[in-house]
Amino acid sequence: MSELTGITLKAALDGLAARRFSAEEITRAHIQAIEAARPLNAFVLETPDRALEMARASDARIAAGDAGPLEGAPIGIKDLFCTQGVRSTAGSRILGNFIPPYESTVTSQLWRDGAVMLGKLNMDEFAMGSSNETSAFGPVVNPWRSEGSNRDLTPGGSSGGSAAAVAADLVLGATATDTGGSIRQPASLTGTVGMKPTYGRCSRWGVVAFASSLDQAGPIARTVEDVAILMRSMSGHDPKDSTSLPVEVPDFPSFVGRSPKGLRIGVPKEYRVDDMPAEIDALWARGVAWLKDAGCEIVDVSLPHTRYALPAYYIIAPAEASSNLARYDGMRYGLRVDGASLNEVYEETRAAGFGEEVKRRILIGAYVLSAGYYDAYYLKAQKVRRRIADDFETAFQHVDALLTPTAPSAAFGLGDNTADPVAMYLNDIFTVTVNLAGLPAISVPGGLDAKGLPLGLQLIGRPLDEGTLFTLAGAMEKASAFASKPARWW
Ligand code: GLN
Repeated sequence: MSELTGITLKAALDGLAARRFSAEEITRAHIQAIEAARPLNAFVLETPDRALEMARASDARIAAGDAGPLEGAPIGIKDLFCTQGVRSTAGSRILGNFIPPYESTVTSQLWRDGAVMLGKLNMDEFAMGSSNETSAFGPVVNPWRSEGSNRDLTPGGSSGGSAAAVAADLVLGATATDTGGSIRQPASLTGTVGMKPTYGRCSRWGVVAFASSLDQAGPIARTVEDVAILMRSMSGHDPKDSTSLPVEVPDFPSFVGRSPKGLRIGVPKEYRVDDMPAEIDALWARGVAWLKDAGCEIVDVSLPHTRYALPAYYIIAPAEASSNLARYDGMRYGLRVDGASLNEVYEETRAAGFGEEVKRRILIGAYVLSAGYYDAYYLKAQKVRRRIADDFETAFQHVDALLTPTAPSAAFGLGDNTADPVAMYLNDIFTVTVNLAGLPAISVPGGLDAKGLPLGLQLIGRPLDEGTLFTLAGAMEKASAFASKPARWW
């Protein structure tokens, strides 16, 4: 492909600022790459005309000496973010051809800083899933394949379109969201970097709600520095989101490249689960060695309530989803299927508009919230959640960050886990704890497995301490020297 597509966001911004190429040129190169990559199904909507219009406006601002920090950089947007005048579906049929009359805060900040929108990225329906297979638009195909195989693999989910587009060099970076792992697990499965920030760091206003006490927006990109650059633009207090934290945005990129010497890194023993592939264990040990070599002190820690995290998550997330998704009733926006009575309109619309997984979550959520079961399930899960957060708080009295694998396996085949929802839910085993506790975490590529597929390592930080994660992730990125790319087959 063009030499303007495989570069880092940082290199692109430098090249644009130095006028080595124009925003229009780099945008055109990405539009071509996207057209050539349709077999990946990473986009649900390409917006080339809007992209070129935005790029020309960027070129004018660069010429006028008025460039923003992301000026002219073409990126992709997960279709969970509402974009004004551009169809936003959340990967669901129920939103139909919904065209939002407003822009999400996170995307408006990206445009404020000069970024260019290439289009809307595929995702699991309402961000429920770990493989992108619940999307109403069909699965995304991972650009990576096992050595010697042409079998289609999942890029992970729910931000599968974002991760695949970044890995295949279709965008310089992408927005994503993470309720239980949806930024970090796809980053791990595609050899990319993804950060789930502290709960409240990025505004959720204009992001379609899945489970409001867990949902966080964040970026996926090809390097730690690129993620830090995007984080700087995406973060910040927003009075329109009552959970948005009124705190300053640190200069995230300045944390990348600092020495992690002297930082204390916890290795939680409960993350060594049964049946974990030996390769994941070896990857984890490599990560420990890299940080030790960089001058960190490694400390064994215990997070005793870890094994209750997945069951608690799969009560709390569906409970909140069943409440949030009650608004899709065929009355206000999106799909409407007519019926003889008001109830019939509701029933027919929801039956036709929601996919299987979303229906499963709504049923589970309504059940755990129902009068007879509320205390036994929902309230209990909330208590477990408190314990999990307390475990982290205790650990962070002794360590500055935690290191774990991101996901329990490399990319798996499309269709491999669709018959058994619990097998699919196990993908989130290392990631959901972080959402339950509201902490920041980042996934960084750690190497390839024996079949040539990428594996990620996760660093978990104290609330609002994304800076330390950038320093540590930068050190691991340097040590791993991960430079592999998927061989182009599309
Ligand atoms: N895989 C998890 C789920 O299906 C997490 C999804 C997410 O983070 N949005 O709920």
